[in-house]
Amino acid sequence: MSVIFSNVSYEYPAEEDSLLAVKNVSLEIADGSFVCVCGENGSGKSTLAKLMNGLLIPSEGEVTVDGASTNTEDESALFAIRRKIGMVFQNPDNQMVASIIEDEIAFGPENLGVPREEIEERIAYALGAVGMEEYRHQTPYKLSGGQKQRIAIAAVLAMRPEILVLDESTAMLDPKGRQEVLSVAHELNKQGITVVLITHFMEEAVKADRVIVMKEGSVALDGTPEIVFSDPERIKSYDLELPVPDYVAAALRKEGFSLPDKIYGEEELAEAVCRSL
Ligand code: ADP
Ligand code: MG
Repeated sequence: MSVIFSNVSYEYPAEEDSLLAVKNVSLEIADGSFVCVCGENGSGKSTLAKLMNGLLIPSEGEVTVDGASTNTEDESALFAIRRKIGMVFQNPDNQMVASIIEDEIAFGPENLGVPREEIEERIAYALGAVGMEEYRHQTPYKLSGGQKQRIAIAAVLAMRPEILVLDESTAMLDPKGRQEVLSVAHELNKQGITVVLITHFMEEAVKADRVIVMKEGSVALDGTPEIVFSDPERIKSYDLELPVPDYVAAALRKEGFSLPDKIYGEEELAEAVCRSL
């Protein structure tokens, strides 16, 4: 299922100094890919995400999902698009509606009129996919931030989406919680779900298939992490911080060290440097 942006601009209504939040963006999200979107605050990442699933409609240009434009009068077509593209936001506490986890997961499918047996299957699948089966009958309030976000993801999965958009869903979590959510996202991607991960943490972006860097509503950089992160100075100019091992690796490559293109973390860097010596 492809999502295509063709010359898309978006301007929030009733803005006095009306700046475009998204400016003339054209891109295609490939089926099954893991795409990271980064960029400084206010660069248009959330607006881009909301344009993707028809929560916002372009002021100019067009977004199509599986060939169907989000700019449609047909409510059921728009609803189908929103169901295919599930979104998880930053604050896990704002996303919970039910006091028992299984009700939280069942909420979406129930509203769709999914039959009871199938809802059962979906609850089991969704909780299993995020590794939260044993919490089924508990209340979400006592969970850690990472667990809450996994429940928020499960609630989206119960709608059987084809694309999962995580809009800074790890931003409020501790490192452990971030890791939990990230592994779930990568696992789901392996199972065929397209993932769009909006994040401030560059160490999350280095494992994506593709990194899109936004700046003032436009796409500033777009490519594999190896290409986008090859120049640490350039990355800094977009107000982004590369993980330390990537900085070190970039500096060593510049000095003629032969290191692999992809280096994940301090340990791999240490091993690669030792091999290179
Ligand atoms: P990001 O997610 O990268 O921080 P956003 O997409 O939220 O960026 O915002 C892009 C621009 O649109 C910013 O200038 C922001 O102030 C503006 N903006 C975002 N949401 C609204 C809104 N609801 N009303 C008016 N302006 C908004
Ligand atoms: Mg945002």
